[in-house]
Amino acid sequence: MDLDDLAFLLGDDAPSGDGGGDYRNIWVVAERQGDGVSRVTRQVLGKARELADRLGARVEAVLLAHEGDMVARQLIQLGADKVYLADNPLFAEPAGDLWVKALDQLVTSRRPEIVLFGFTAVGKEVAPRLAQRLGTGLVADAHELDLDENERLLIATRGSFGGRALASVTCPKARPQMATVHPNAFAEAEPDRHREGDVEAVEVEIYGDDRRVKVSGTSPAPTEVPLERARVLVVGGKGLGGAEGVALAQQLATALGGQVAGTRGAVEAGWLQAGQEISSRGATVAPDLYIGLGVGGSMEHIDAMRQSRTIVAVNTRADAPIMEIADYALVGDLREVVPALLTAIAALRSKKAALAAR
Ligand SMILES: Cc1cc2nc3c(=O)[nH]c(=O)nc-3n(C[C@H](O)[C@H](O)[C@H](O)COP(=O)(O)OP(=O)(O)OC[C@H]3O[C@@H](n4cnc5c(N)ncnc54)[C@H](O)[C@@H]3O)c2cc1C
Repeated sequence: MDLDDLAFLLGDDAPSGDGGGDYRNIWVVAERQGDGVSRVTRQVLGKARELADRLGARVEAVLLAHEGDMVARQLIQLGADKVYLADNPLFAEPAGDLWVKALDQLVTSRRPEIVLFGFTAVGKEVAPRLAQRLGTGLVADAHELDLDENERLLIATRGSFGGRALASVTCPKARPQMATVHPNAFAEAEPDRHREGDVEAVEVEIYGDDRRVKVSGTSPAPTEVPLERARVLVVGGKGLGGAEGVALAQQLATALGGQVAGTRGAVEAGWLQAGQEISSRGATVAPDLYIGLGVGGSMEHIDAMRQSRTIVAVNTRADAPIMEIADYALVGDLREVVPALLTAIAALRSKKAALAAR
């Protein structure tokens, strides 16, 4: 802990707390996925581009990576005007301690006006620690981002009281303004292969010993693909009623090449695992196909799945709230509807196979 941190904890003014001055441009702290840019980073970049155009500012991405040249070029194609690339073998492994230290150095020397992260494992770990070091505020898990252009203020909206109310938060005094952005809150930036920008290699002072957490191993994720990225989801609610309903959901998911997820109610009933919950505190999803089986459609659940492209709902009640937002509302008992769907899918598959064999 340095002296500024100690003074802050003892009740002195927050360190730095600089209210504007020469802070400029919007930074997106990028995350890679293999040799590409992660989906959440693409979403944050798309929104950052829109905000920067309104402010007359630049979008600058920061990439902390080992061998990140290809990813840096993709960040330009996705809307960044500039990429600060800190290429260091120490970034080959996830290491929050190193990210905090490196970003502290970069932000302090280059003074961005706004710094955005995805609300991901990295964002959740790094952004609060960075904000504390910089003596500024952070809006965690923002679902909407807007601006007061006159005051150059970021207005970040997030759920509060467990998602029952929305709070719009600004950080008028300290800079930079920081937020972590909820996955799937915004559309992904579209790449433009002809787009040009600068990639600046930057040095950061980090050492292996700065890493205070050692990753001793990883265990496989509970689901094949993180729910946020799943294309087909069969989602069970309390209407599943127990093991028989869960088995039907699983059969339907398998037939469609998808995954099973659930409402909080189905998870709390013990029928599904915590990692399968669709919720503001868990996964917010945007699959191509969402099939809700015995899902009522609580406000909180709908908030976490409303970006789904096609919504099918199976419910015994025609007036269940989910039926209002469903593209296809099937009124009936899921124990009858799902077997009928499975038969129809099997018939369609064999018809296709017969046509292909001709
Ligand atoms: C502060 C707070 C935050 C919350 N946040 C979330 C959240 O983020 N995500 C979330 O999912 N939940 C959240 N919840 C819980 C949420 O409000 C619901 O209570 C919960 O998700 C249960 O919803 P459900 O759709 O499973 O069950 P219900 O709302 O009980 O709906 C079950 C539906 O199944 C139908 N049904 C019953 N039997 C059958 C059958 N055999 N065939 C077909 N249909 C049938 C019924 O008609 C009914 O519409 C939150 C609650 C609180 C208090």
